[in-house]
Amino acid sequence: MTSSPLVKELMVCNPIVCGLDTTVREAINIMESHGVGSVIVVEKFTRKPINIITHKDVISAIYHSKLDSPIEELIEILEKDSLITIREDEPVIEAIRIFEEKGIEHLPVIDEDGILVGIITGTDILKGLPRFALIDPLTGLENRRVLDYLEQKLSRQNARDIYVLMIDIDDFKKINDTYGHIFGDKVLKKTAEAVLKVVRTYDNVIRFGGEEIVVILHRVGEREALDIANRIREKVQSLSFEEHPEVKVSVSIGIAPYRGSLMEAIHRADKAMYRAKSLGKNRVIVSEQPS
Ligand code: GH3
Ligand code: MG
Ligand code: MG
Repeated sequence: MTSSPLVKELMVCNPIVCGLDTTVREAINIMESHGVGSVIVVEKFTRKPINIITHKDVISAIYHSKLDSPIEELIEILEKDSLITIREDEPVIEAIRIFEEKGIEHLPVIDEDGILVGIITGTDILKGLPRFALIDPLTGLENRRVLDYLEQKLSRQNARDIYVLMIDIDDFKKINDTYGHIFGDKVLKKTAEAVLKVVRTYDNVIRFGGEEIVVILHRVGEREALDIANRIREKVQSLSFEEHPEVKVSVSIGIAPYRGSLMEAIHRADKAMYRAKSLGKNRVIVSEQPS
């Protein structure tokens, strides 16, 4: 399980490159036409990165009258340090550490064979991180922070026709105790995938707690919500695991309508889910309407 996004998830792919024999002037043209602040110098045939030319180097080239010289010459004159790169499967926090330690702003990204696959800058990280703050790293579902945002959005819109599902895996502790937590994690991931397969793209699927998933269904009535919940229940029941074919997973689901407060709806869906548990699990129960 990764708790920090990886470099490859935030990097820019297909970085702009040139060769050692490219002139500085050509390199400037390349940067200008692509609207980028650096160009990576690569070995012609292997695409292994050798160095990087940034705006700062361009200014030095003008100072030394080297605009029409090959980049190879500029690198020699400037006595540029050897290139610092980062592997695509490193966590982003490592890129941030290198930026701070080395005082650089662009990091070429390589794969396990040392081939250039991207470039990452502080701006790429800043732009990409908010997305990760809302995602649960284990399941890839949204996390609870999304609920605060949704609560406000739905109340502003005076939203209607929304149903909340509270889904809880049955006897999950037993699965962990019998097969270990790693397998438990896999069950959790597969359950999350099963839920995602049934709902529509505009519904919200949120990891609410350890093995609890909240679904916010938009534009549905009670019959449709009940139907979706039962399809989720059946989909989870049909999951199978190669390493432990005897394992059967089931969920209990509570349903409640949204009536102006998401937290209230979740609370009622939770109570309905507990009724589903007490009636024997692996079933769907609709919350009783308040009088
Ligand atoms: P019930 O049918 O009544 O829901 O029983 P249960 O065993 O599913 O419920 P209980 O609340 O007793 O146990 C939930 C378990 O979920 C306990 C906890 O260790 C486990 N769990 C919570 N988060 C994770 C996780 O991220 N990974 C794994 N593997 N287990 C988790
Ligand atoms: Mg639970
Ligand atoms: Mg449970």
